[in-house]
Amino acid sequence: MSALHAVFGQPISHSRSPAIHAAFGQAEGIALQYRTIETGVDSFPAALQAFFEEGGRGANVTLPLKEAAFALCGSHGTAARRAGAVNTLVWQQDHWHGENTDGSGLVRDLTSRHGLDLRGCRVLLLGAGGAARGVAPALLDAGITELVVANRTPARADTLVDALGEPGRAVSAYWEALNEQGDFEIIINATSAARSDTPPPKLSLGLVNSRTSAVDLNYGAAAVPFLSWARAAGCRKQIDGLGMLVEQAAAAFHLWHGRHPDTDPVYAQLRTQTG
Ligand code: NDP
Repeated sequence: MSALHAVFGQPISHSRSPAIHAAFGQAEGIALQYRTIETGVDSFPAALQAFFEEGGRGANVTLPLKEAAFALCGSHGTAARRAGAVNTLVWQQDHWHGENTDGSGLVRDLTSRHGLDLRGCRVLLLGAGGAARGVAPALLDAGITELVVANRTPARADTLVDALGEPGRAVSAYWEALNEQGDFEIIINATSAARSDTPPPKLSLGLVNSRTSAVDLNYGAAAVPFLSWARAAGCRKQIDGLGMLVEQAAAAFHLWHGRHPDTDPVYAQLRTQTG
């Protein structure tokens, strides 16, 4: 019988995860069913229980459920604990174990696929939502020198920085005062501003030097505004979130099946579809 997996979220019909996992399964010779399950926070526990009763033993979780998934888990991996959010559920004997593969997925994409050396970099992280919380600890673990977090709602940036527990190395800054921060080797957009009706506060050109790489966790049309700004500002590389999407999925696949699939063919296929 093939293993049953799913991604929970709302909205979820647009998700690329079923196609990505189907391709991984085919390449690795693992028969699996992977479906989308649309559910909000209130109905998530019942939906997860129904999935379990049907035989589901592994799942991904996306917006707006990552914190709710964290609360439902009986144990957590280090990355999930540091993020306070779960994107991968693994059934372990008698409980759901929660992991977060967003951060390791981003770091793997930036270092292996795009050849960035994160060690010694000053990094500006825009946003303090679930994605930012997932990637911030992994960036620090990868050896960056300093992480500056700026968010439209400043209190959320403060909360993220406090949770990281690395005073002096991880700091928050007011978005409107970012021109006082000097330049950065890496600027990461972890906001969903492109999906909202309100444009984000403007970014100063002084944040960019000739070695700056710009990274948007979004991909497709949602990555266009930030990466267009980055190109015009003179960033040497503009990287969207497609590679992170594939790498976080591969890390989840490894947690479920004990094998890390080759991500390049799936990435290449998605790239031709996404542009
Ligand atoms: P959340 O809803 O948890 O957080 C949204 C963030 O965006 C908050 O920091 C919010 O600020 C900020 N924001 C929203 N609208 C605006 C705006 N108009 N101007 C400035 N800031 C704004 O979302 P996630 O953190 O989960 O996701 C963020 C993005 O990352 C999404 O677009 C998502 O698709 C993408 N993502 C990509 C992944 C990948 O694998 N490539 C994985 C996970 C996420 P405030 O706190 O003020 O509301």
